[in-house]
Amino acid sequence: ATPMALAVGAGEASRRGMLLRNAEAFQTLRAVRVALLDKTGTLTQGEPRVAVSRLEPEASAAALALEERSNHPLARAVTTFLRNAEGVSPVVGLEEVEETPGEGIGGVLKGRSWFVGRPLDSGKYRDLLDQGCTLVEVRRDGEVQGVLGVTDPLRTGSVEAVRRLEELGIRVVMATGDHPAVAERVARETGIREVHAGVHPGDKLDLVRRFQAGGERVLMVGDGLNDAGALKGADVGVAMGSGLDLALDSADLILVRGELAGLADAVLLSRKLVRVVA
Ligand code: ADP
Ligand code: MG
Repeated sequence: ATPMALAVGAGEASRRGMLLRNAEAFQTLRAVRVALLDKTGTLTQGEPRVAVSRLEPEASAAALALEERSNHPLARAVTTFLRNAEGVSPVVGLEEVEETPGEGIGGVLKGRSWFVGRPLDSGKYRDLLDQGCTLVEVRRDGEVQGVLGVTDPLRTGSVEAVRRLEELGIRVVMATGDHPAVAERVARETGIREVHAGVHPGDKLDLVRRFQAGGERVLMVGDGLNDAGALKGADVGVAMGSGLDLALDSADLILVRGELAGLADAVLLSRKLVRVVA
């Protein structure tokens, strides 16, 4: 497209709540055939709330201390809940804190190692999975201390976004680090037919590359630490405006107001401008 068309595109995009960071990617957008969407914070509001707690006070206190160091949407839910939980007092002296994207966060407290995050074996929390809860397990020295069940409502516009992308001939695929039971529930609710669950952070990029290897132009939408690589590797990387800096920096296009339905508008705009003015 001409610089003129791109300037028009950028202006029009910004009126619709999108920040265009890369003009080349905007041209590519018209040819996108696959849209990979992250779940937590992208299809869902990413403002999850703890619905169920099966933690003793000691584990709660350790989990609170750890999650206060994390930016993950689940960490916000956990800290909000545990700060108000009965019998939970703040802990001091947390050391060696380390967060692993897509897994959780761990550290050492009074000589014992604690971890909060993805369960070792989620099968034993079947009842919580059936309720659509995302699971956050707490372990001490590798031994399970309990679990939190977290629910995260859909973003308004998710259903519409999926439908409109499919109407444009784009294959919509979910990629999430969460458990298949939770992923499938969100897929059902949004009308997504293809789901990749339990995807480790590096594997989101592999998924992007696998579709690209099939000759497809791939769009990736995400919000988190674990999405940055895939956003960079995709032909068009789109970040939710509420996402982490790392995701925003890796994106070609930012949905400033977090309105996922804007994606279809962006594709339409790209097709229109590139056809008419190029
Ligand atoms: P998504 O791909 O849907 O955005 P993530 O890859 O960020 O999800 O997380 C995958 C799983 O890892 C979560 O469902 C959760 O069990 C666990 N997890 C990751 N980070 C954290 C954290 N800071 N606190 C609790 N759990 C976490
Ligand atoms: Mg996410």
